[in-house]
Amino acid sequence: MIYIENANIVLEKGILKNGALLCENGIITKIGKPDSFEAPKNAEIIDANGLYLGPGFVDIHVHGGNGYNFFDNPEKAAEYFLKHGETTVLATSYTTYTKDEYLAAIEKIKNAMKTDAKNIAGFYMEGPYLNPKYGAEPKMNKWLGEIKEEDYAQIVDNVGDLAKVWAVAPERDGIENFMEYVKSQNQNAVFAVAHSEATPDEIDRVKNYGIKIQTHCMNATGRLGESAGIRGVGPDEYCLMNDDMYAEMICDSLAIHVPAYLQRLILKIKGIDKIILITDSFATDSEESEKYAKSKDLSFDSEGNVSGSRLTMDIVCQNFVKHTNSSIQDTFLAAATNPAKAIGMYDEIGSIEVGKKANLLIVDKDFKIDKVIFEGVVQC
Ligand SMILES: [Zn+2]
Repeated sequence: MIYIENANIVLEKGILKNGALLCENGIITKIGKPDSFEAPKNAEIIDANGLYLGPGFVDIHVHGGNGYNFFDNPEKAAEYFLKHGETTVLATSYTTYTKDEYLAAIEKIKNAMKTDAKNIAGFYMEGPYLNPKYGAEPKMNKWLGEIKEEDYAQIVDNVGDLAKVWAVAPERDGIENFMEYVKSQNQNAVFAVAHSEATPDEIDRVKNYGIKIQTHCMNATGRLGESAGIRGVGPDEYCLMNDDMYAEMICDSLAIHVPAYLQRLILKIKGIDKIILITDSFATDSEESEKYAKSKDLSFDSEGNVSGSRLTMDIVCQNFVKHTNSSIQDTFLAAATNPAKAIGMYDEIGSIEVGKKANLLIVDKDFKIDKVIFEGVVQC
């Protein structure tokens, strides 16, 4: 049992100043002013010293970090991100895995989720069917041929309803059959448009399967114009136009993935409730690039192009505030609440409410982490 006092509690609709919070058996059971309820005698008392108490981060798009990919070493990756406040992560796949590598990794992650890596809530399947023109590793991509059930069925079956998101390029021939199959196995699966140059018509054709997310908006996407000099429209514009879609955003410190001006434009059009901050982090050991020597948080693909990051969500939040001037409360919406809603887990995580899991962070005004509490247990 934990009693946290002297905290600025970041609720979904506002900040409760000088608040107190009680959690029992891993669940939040009381929130209020300290004079409204006292700490039970046997509670561990934590003084937040006037810092912010917010919901644990929900990073739905993260491949790995600190040398460990979720698909190779889920326990180490999960532990690393938990220390950075990521109390929920989706282990994210990529197109460089063969079918057998997918199947082995899925088993490994499922086992890890039962034991040590409890902050892994499932999978974000980034592919396998993406458009290699847009940053989907054209040389190492194992999924460029015809889309065939015999290739994907076992992966879809084995990952089952743990796959919260399937990212697809709607322009790939045969993608409907694949999406149909995914839906038949997992009614709750959510689709994202990713690494794509699909036109709005092409996206509309598959909309009924449940397109809800634009994977890293304004990054790794194309738009085909009628001819040179005519600006086309693609997935980013589709996402901006459709109010029910969430826009994922990678905020690195130099705003390389998404220029700061575009970050503000996305925010202005979508509104804070439809922004999902992601790290898109990789366990990269790639050389730091001369061109981006000042950046410590980018990663690069096998050809030296910027691809993914080395971010953690606490740093993403700092960068988001820096580039968009968003408030702490809004930043927690984008880093915890909105992603929990998008993947259908909002009834248990994503905000500070009585009855939800006690996944909590104590942070200062710059998102520097003071404490991480996972299911009612202090981690660090
Ligand atoms: Zn990714």
